Amino acid sequence: MKLTDMHTHSTFSADGKSALKDMVRTAKEMGLSYYGVSEHFDTDSISMQIFTLTDVPAYFSAARALQAEVCTQEFRFLVGGEFGFSREREAQERLLSVSARFSPDFVVNSVHIVDNYDCYFPDYFAGKTKEAAYGAYLEMVRDSLDAPYPYDIVGHIGYVSRNSPYPVRKIRYEDFPDLYDDILKTIVKKGKILEVNSSARGAESEFLPDTDVLSRYYALGGRLISFGSDAHAVNRICEKRAEIVAALKKIGFTAIAVPVCGETVLCDF
Ligand SMILES: [Zn+2]
Ligand SMILES: [Zn+2]
Repeated sequence: MKLTDMHTHSTFSADGKSALKDMVRTAKEMGLSYYGVSEHFDTDSISMQIFTLTDVPAYFSAARALQAEVCTQEFRFLVGGEFGFSREREAQERLLSVSARFSPDFVVNSVHIVDNYDCYFPDYFAGKTKEAAYGAYLEMVRDSLDAPYPYDIVGHIGYVSRNSPYPVRKIRYEDFPDLYDDILKTIVKKGKILEVNSSARGAESEFLPDTDVLSRYYALGGRLISFGSDAHAVNRICEKRAEIVAALKKIGFTAIAVPVCGETVLCDF
């Protein structure tokens, strides 16, 4: 079995805790076959004036130099980005230009901002029922699948549930079957990879999305699954990977998919 982790951050992201070279060195020492760094490219909303974009030229220049230094036949370090989706054309154009200028090895397409709030934080939920808050988030995920820039992985579906104020926080397939089906069918149709993200603290799920959504994806013909720890520090690389692989096996999945510069490599369990 090959170890992979395709969703991590270093101090090039505002919330990263470990330096890029330390993240990469640790991944190599842990014996990973494929290790992806996906710094935040959060031009989520121009109108909100959220410009937490990673220092793009500095990141790519440091990461490409490190890549040339550390990659071997056994260890592939991939230089990627987590693109925060926005419906605003200007924000999308920024990401299009990052993509064209720096050609990341892979992109995780994620939704953080909904209705002008990061849906991790309490302000987003003020005055909203759970159905409205989660529904608007899932609508945004659906729209993100039509992003105009290239992407490979659909990041952490269910993120909205991690810090919500409702008595039952879990986001469940059965509460939004039509929206989830639309999302999952579109992922399958477009040949994208659905991420299972182990950074789920607070979500009332061990990982996101949970097994109900993963089972439905499988039933709809989805086979491409990525593992991401969303580690922001060296000690969380590959966190809960074995547990997730066990859950995936139970559903019927047989491999983890890794996007490598436009190609999908399947790593059997
Ligand atoms: Zn994210
Ligand atoms: Zn992330």
